[in-house]
Amino acid sequence: MTDPTRPDAPTETPSPEEEGPNFVADLVAADVAAGKHGGKVVTRFPPEPNGYLHIGHAKAIVLDFEIAKRFGGRCNLRFDDTNPEAESVEFVEAIRRDVRWLGYDWGEHEYFASDYFERLYEWAKVLIRKGLAYVDSQTPEQIRLNRGDYHRPGTNSPFRDRSVEENLALFEKMRAGEMAEGEAVLRAKIDMAHPNVVMRDPLMYRIRHVPHHRTGNRWCIYPMYDWAHGQSDAIEGVTHSLCTLEFEDHRPLYDWFLEALEIDPRPRQIEFARLNLTYTVLSKRRLLQLVQGGHVDGWDDPRMPTLSGMRRRGFPPEAIRRFCRRIGVSKREGVVDVTLLEHMVRDHLEHTAPRAMAVLDPLKVVIDNYPEDAEESFEAPNHPTDPSFGTRTLPFCRELWIDRKDFMLDPPRKYHRLAPGREVRLRYACLVTCTDVECDADGRPTVVHCTFDPASRGGTAPDGRKVRGTIHWVSARHAVRGECRLYDRLFDVENPQGEDDFLAHLNPASRVVVENAMLEPSLAGLEPGTRRQFERTGYFVVDPDSTPERPVWNRTIALKDTWAKMVARGATG
Ligand code: ATP
Ligand code: MG
Repeated sequence: MTDPTRPDAPTETPSPEEEGPNFVADLVAADVAAGKHGGKVVTRFPPEPNGYLHIGHAKAIVLDFEIAKRFGGRCNLRFDDTNPEAESVEFVEAIRRDVRWLGYDWGEHEYFASDYFERLYEWAKVLIRKGLAYVDSQTPEQIRLNRGDYHRPGTNSPFRDRSVEENLALFEKMRAGEMAEGEAVLRAKIDMAHPNVVMRDPLMYRIRHVPHHRTGNRWCIYPMYDWAHGQSDAIEGVTHSLCTLEFEDHRPLYDWFLEALEIDPRPRQIEFARLNLTYTVLSKRRLLQLVQGGHVDGWDDPRMPTLSGMRRRGFPPEAIRRFCRRIGVSKREGVVDVTLLEHMVRDHLEHTAPRAMAVLDPLKVVIDNYPEDAEESFEAPNHPTDPSFGTRTLPFCRELWIDRKDFMLDPPRKYHRLAPGREVRLRYACLVTCTDVECDADGRPTVVHCTFDPASRGGTAPDGRKVRGTIHWVSARHAVRGECRLYDRLFDVENPQGEDDFLAHLNPASRVVVENAMLEPSLAGLEPGTRRQFERTGYFVVDPDSTPERPVWNRTIALKDTWAKMVARGATG
């Protein structure tokens, strides 16, 4: 329920029947019941700081943090920063901001894989001493060729049986910067004929003479994901390491390293299906292409599926969380209909966004029987059904703006808006009847003349006559000019991710800028992030580009709810 004292308070109704099935929660519950890890639950969210978080990451964040919460545990934020080339402090800061915005707090449990480089290095030497790791001096190309493939076993490296002493000496040389990139790697010694290609002597370290955003030039060997991840989990006491399905084949290796190091108790890796969304690409590589190619205005462009883009677009974090719970967690890959997310956004805004009036395509109305110098104001509720939102006053005078689409010169019979000889209600104000129209040389209306019924102030006629149409309006004398950016889906095909040339399917109408919208005065001077429903037009949010002189509003979403219609038709399954 809305907190009546705070119209913008988050409303969330996590009714259990609305949550999708979650097999991960079931597995964790079974582990807790069996007393594993002393009944403790620790998860982690492990982003690589090489891009901004997107709605797919939100699925993982909600899962990791809510599993921890449900079982009285905690969730760590761990930056998986093992690839210095692509990573940066900018991305680290953006990730922190976005996780916090989504509503989660990791307290002091913020970690970096790079903090474990020394420990991992020592552990690598443990494996070398156990005869479980070796320095390979094959070229990268030879290593690739000798790995074999799904149909053929691999071939042992000629360097596979180096002595422990030689391996230790070479590994130390690697670390000391005495070798060139590609000259040597450290590999786990497992089985070059293993049916799972991941287990064919996987790489643990490669040489990169590249500075790291946190460790500077201290290291020139960097651990591979597989070597860093499970051990980082173990160092942090993570009990359940949740990741997406592409790591399923890596689980035997995850377990192999922990076993080789005799770590006990061991974290448990569980894989779930990643989120895919219609009309959306969700891969950092492709999002980076959109940014670098100038197809959008940056990571936080309101059309981007990033959390920062969605924030700027006006998506409430509550709606994103609710969406993530609703889709559930399974092992089955699928594509979620983006209209479900849009429905969650609308549903939240319906209950939390105060109403206002704005005219995006202005047409002048002159009320001929209203005195030139006079003005008055009407009181309007800020929400149609929730009185706790209070009211505001709408100034009114002889000249008004209405939306061009609310007037027709020659309308069909069922048209209930304004037309010559017809009467409509100006929302919260009065009834007006169109008496005359001025047009330009092309026959396009420029001024609509009306008379108003002074007895209809407030919006109802004293004689009870029926007026079907109600339109929104803004007083011309009091209107504030502003910019409205109308956003739509970035792609015009349902599955842009499946297209080789996904950039060929950008929606040319994904952003339409209205330079001179006429806004009611209450829409000026608001803080970025403030949300409103512009009546009959959509939900909007103040953009950070906004200034007191020139408000800029982004359309979060239009009012028509496709998902709700499909539910009504029983078409959502
Ligand atoms: P991308 O595939 O978009 O490039 P990534 O997996 O490389 O993303 P990471 O920073 O490594 O990005 O991801 C951090 C966590 O978020 C991982 O646990 C990953 O499995 C999870 N994750 C990434 N994309 C999705 C998605 N679409 N759905 C669910 N979880 C995801
Ligand atoms: Mg990744």
